[in-house]
Amino acid sequence: MGTIADNLARIRATLPAGVELVAVSKFHPAEALREAYDAGQRLFGESRPQEMAAKRAELPEDIEWHMVGHLQTNKVKTIIPFVSLIHSVDSPRLAEAIDREAARAERASVDVLFEVHVAQEESKFGWSGDELERFLRERRLEALPHLRVRGLMGMASLTDDRAQIEREFETLRRTFDSFRERYLPQIDTLSMGMSGDYPAAVAHGATMVRVGSLIFGQRNY
Ligand SMILES: *Cc1c(COP(=O)(O)O)cnc(C)c1O
Repeated sequence: MGTIADNLARIRATLPAGVELVAVSKFHPAEALREAYDAGQRLFGESRPQEMAAKRAELPEDIEWHMVGHLQTNKVKTIIPFVSLIHSVDSPRLAEAIDREAARAERASVDVLFEVHVAQEESKFGWSGDELERFLRERRLEALPHLRVRGLMGMASLTDDRAQIEREFETLRRTFDSFRERYLPQIDTLSMGMSGDYPAAVAHGATMVRVGSLIFGQRNY
């Protein structure tokens, strides 16, 4: 691997205009984020609220902090004052908690994505297309005025089967198109693709990719 700046430049060179790069910095120290920041990176993705809040305190204020990992409802309030996009809204309960905490923090709205489950693995979080459809059809969003839904997020299966990965991204793109047409005309963000599969995600219509290890190296959990 090259330096963080080299890695960022290499990845950015492959992204078409209009596709945003979220640098997923979870488990990496603030100095690594600082290097990326100095190379011009402003969107960072984290998966643990405490870690995000701690890094935020050490780093420049113009960073946009994205929550990409599963979020427990009791941790929402840690990030709600400053988070710029929550990618991982995976249940009605979490959507309600975000709305409630945003009201409490006097934030007019918080940008969110619904995480839709398209992978074959059982363990991944997210709504099925049908569950999300029912939630939207029942107009449950109307009761959550502090949520500003920007789009969908998803993860493909961890597999070497490229065709399967492509099918899953395509399913997510179609789900996005269909919800935009029928329920959410305002959505503009389709977050899909990670270090191992982001070119395929971009080919299938991602507007935002979440790349960690290709930028920062392997994580030490
Ligand atoms: C960790 C993580 C990523 C980044 O994964 P890499 O394979 O390191 O690029 C992207 N999205 C989510 C939701 C993650 O949890």
